[in-house]
Amino acid sequence: MEMFNTDFILNFIGTTSFITVLCLWIALIFKIDQIKKLKFTLDKLKRSFDELDEQAKLIVKTDLELNKTQEELDKKVAGLYTLQRLSRAISTTLDEEQIFARIEEPLIREFGFEKALAFTFKKVRDGSLELNLRIQAGYSEEEAEKIKHNLEKESILSIIIKNNAPFSSLNAASGKLKQATESIKNLCLLNSFAGSIISTKDGPYGLIIMGNESSLSVLIEGDEEIVGILANQLGQAIENAKLFEETFRSHQELERRVTERTKELTDALSEIKQISKRKSEFVSAVSHELRTPLTSIKGYASILTAGTLGEIPPAVKERIEKIHHHSNELTDLINNLLDISRIESGKVEMKIEPHNLSLIIEKVADLLMPQIKEKQLQFSLKIPAGLGLALADAHQIERVFINLISNAIKYTPNQGKIGISAVKIPDNYLRIDVSDSGYGIPLEDLNKIFNEFYRVDSMITRGIKGTGLGLSLVKYIIEAHKGKIWATSKLNEGSIFSFTLPVAK
Ligand code: ATP
Ligand code: MG
Repeated sequence: MEMFNTDFILNFIGTTSFITVLCLWIALIFKIDQIKKLKFTLDKLKRSFDELDEQAKLIVKTDLELNKTQEELDKKVAGLYTLQRLSRAISTTLDEEQIFARIEEPLIREFGFEKALAFTFKKVRDGSLELNLRIQAGYSEEEAEKIKHNLEKESILSIIIKNNAPFSSLNAASGKLKQATESIKNLCLLNSFAGSIISTKDGPYGLIIMGNESSLSVLIEGDEEIVGILANQLGQAIENAKLFEETFRSHQELERRVTERTKELTDALSEIKQISKRKSEFVSAVSHELRTPLTSIKGYASILTAGTLGEIPPAVKERIEKIHHHSNELTDLINNLLDISRIESGKVEMKIEPHNLSLIIEKVADLLMPQIKEKQLQFSLKIPAGLGLALADAHQIERVFINLISNAIKYTPNQGKIGISAVKIPDNYLRIDVSDSGYGIPLEDLNKIFNEFYRVDSMITRGIKGTGLGLSLVKYIIEAHKGKIWATSKLNEGSIFSFTLPVAK
């Protein structure tokens, strides 16, 4: 029993152990499988985690890059705004000093730069460039002078001028330009910078450099472009200022020359007036002197032809009558000359009073009627009833009509027409027209016929006698009345002589 029990127990234990071991084995196998699965999952997780980590890193990197780009964009936009304001500021002045003065330190800072320098070039005789300091922001006087001196000395400028494009420490190319950029960086004590040549249409005019000393504020991509645009604007503004200065200077020169010429003309005019006065005085004196002997020649000729001193043979009488006739002509000429010089020198006092023109014209027409009739001319007079009175010296205006009507008679063939008419015109004036259907006056002679001694030289009128003084006397008289006189004419159709006289109020 005990044996049974022991065996049983042992068997039981064995079986149980076996089962247990089996179970454990199975469990172990199961666990191992599970562990394998878990490990696989873990590996997967780890990979995913790694991937996630990579992605997270990428996101952070992208975010950083985005932030940087955003920052750069903000800087660019701010720079463009500043550029726009600056452009407006420099384009509203036409003074070169002012153009540079308007690029002030706060604006440079708004661009995102700590320091700026600008120079203009001055070519010296040996071909080298001398610099004029125009902008100096963030530098002391001595620093700027030192930089200027060094830039003048070294060959940097010629390389940059040759390159003829904006440059910067960011995009320093290779070769000489890179060296030049490095030199500028060192000379100007800058960590990063952008610069550009300022050009006008005449070529390189100056240089602008903007940059940062500290390594914290670095240059961004667009900075070079912005400095380039600014240099362009400066070039444009300088060109405008130069153009303005040129125009202003030539305007001043023109004004100076006009003043000079005006003075010359005034001097010449007063000289001419002097000469004219002397001429009038001379003509007046000579005419006066000639009149006396002429009067006696005429007197003696009259006595001789009258026969009071005894009968004279007809042939002699004929000659003496010619002497008498020519003496009369000479007297007319002298009288006209005398009148012209008197009126010209203001020696004739006009008795200006209101006059009825019809009365004056009728008187003159009566006087000239024999000649009108002799040539069988039609004479018409058209003066409106309510024309009003003219302000005139009756005696002088009578001479005007005598001369104009005499001319109309002289220069119109037989059976022609002569007319006189008057109308009121604006500004309280009367216009009087003396017209004829005569030979007419060539266009080129129309404004010369009022000159002293001028006579139209044409085949038809060549045989008609005259001195060429009548119209100049008429012109003097009319102008002394503050009126005007002119002529219109058509060859072989006739002429109209028009003049104006003020109306009596
Ligand atoms: P005078 O001194 O004797 O009057 P004139 O008649 O030649 O001489 P003006 O009266 O000054 O001198 O005229 C100048 C010229 O103008 C004349 O010689 C004539 O050629 C031209 N002329 C003047 N009036 C007329 C007219 N009505 N028709 C055509 N030609 C005229
Ligand atoms: Mg005449």
